[in-house]
Amino acid sequence: MEGSVLPCKRPYEEAYGEFCKKNKVMKKWVDPVQGLANARHEFGEHGGVNMSIEASATFTVMEPETMKKMFSGELGPERDFYIYSRHFNPTVLNLGRQMAALEGTEAAYCTSSGMSAISSVLSQLCNHGDHVVASRCLYGGTHALLAHFLPRACGVSTTFVDIHRLEDVRNAITPSTKVLYFESMSNPTLAVADIPSLSAIAHEKNVKVVVDNTFAPVILSPAKLGADVVIHSISKYISGGADVIAGAICGSANLINSMMDLHQGALMLLGPTMNPKVAFEISERLPHLGLRMKEHCHRSYTYASRMKKMGLKVIYPGLEDHPQYALLKSMVNSGYGYGGMLCVDMESEERANMLMSHLQNYTQFGLMAVSLGYYETLMSCSGSSTSSEMNEEEKELAGISPGLIRMSIGYSGTLEQRWSQFENALTSMTEVLPSKRM
Ligand SMILES: *Cc1c(COP(=O)(O)O)cnc(C)c1O
Repeated sequence: MEGSVLPCKRPYEEAYGEFCKKNKVMKKWVDPVQGLANARHEFGEHGGVNMSIEASATFTVMEPETMKKMFSGELGPERDFYIYSRHFNPTVLNLGRQMAALEGTEAAYCTSSGMSAISSVLSQLCNHGDHVVASRCLYGGTHALLAHFLPRACGVSTTFVDIHRLEDVRNAITPSTKVLYFESMSNPTLAVADIPSLSAIAHEKNVKVVVDNTFAPVILSPAKLGADVVIHSISKYISGGADVIAGAICGSANLINSMMDLHQGALMLLGPTMNPKVAFEISERLPHLGLRMKEHCHRSYTYASRMKKMGLKVIYPGLEDHPQYALLKSMVNSGYGYGGMLCVDMESEERANMLMSHLQNYTQFGLMAVSLGYYETLMSCSGSSTSSEMNEEEKELAGISPGLIRMSIGYSGTLEQRWSQFENALTSMTEVLPSKRM
């Protein structure tokens, strides 16, 4: 592709013009499900209720003059003129509109993975020599990116802090800090970030707030609470099918435009492009995201309450004994619940492994697998799997004990059927380990 002659105008702003205008008029925050319904409904080429998939890398024109106008920026995606799919593709662009509507941001761009969304945003916002302040409870891949890869490859350093100590966050910010990075609900310990206070601290010092909302789509709306950029690993709840890897960056039209810049844009130049077939699939699942989240949350809350009553050590942010219960309650969009993830601390890796093995192989409660947001329950021992990039000290600081089982509670089967499978697994485990209190 002759990248150097692509239009340097800002087609994204134009493509989003309609949404931006509408957003300014609406000003007042809308619920994510309501926001999604307000987004433009794209019909198929022949009047189909579903949009057509534009499975084309390149686009043709009727008149040679049109090509010239496209390259000069006179004609762009807002008037249905496309050049090349790493730049803009109508199907991917439409999913971007839906993601922006979901998170209440001006624009969004969908990427090939959650990690590519994260690395693109960080490399766009930080130059060589810049600094990031990040939570020390992060997804393992993000932690490794910040701790190891970015310092080596880009000269960007990170200070990890306990984001619940607001003074520590404030003190960690230096004149070269460009980004404050954290997860709305952290992986795997389910600590909840005080998004409004953290955003206020960052904005005082002109620092951009980037929030990974993978664990809490629909439930939390970080942009409404002060964040500048919202990241998603679409591979999890938004997909819901555990079948694709995808990500999204939701933020201002300005940011997205800068990331599409021909000479300096991380999305344009690193090229973490989403396949339009994947964009179509995800687009079909967004309308029931709200319903799915409600059921994930309802079952997680029910199981967490019952597990606690049984005397198990359980972490669930919707239980009153969770340290950020009140904070979460003050931030959630009402009516969806408090998240679909819970953790059970079995105190040792051996006991954690035994419980998971019983739950999968004897009672069929769920599957031993990493990831989350699937309709089946997924279970993993975080310390030896998704957080294994961290060393022992980092894990201890992040509150990841060796026996911690993270569960993404699914909604297949009935609630009571699944609960009896859980109880049966626990009972058979007590028989194997009679001396231990369950
Ligand atoms: C899975 C995950 C990621 C990475 O996303 P991929 O789609 O796997 O690249 C980032 N953040 C969180 C919180 C995740 O759970």
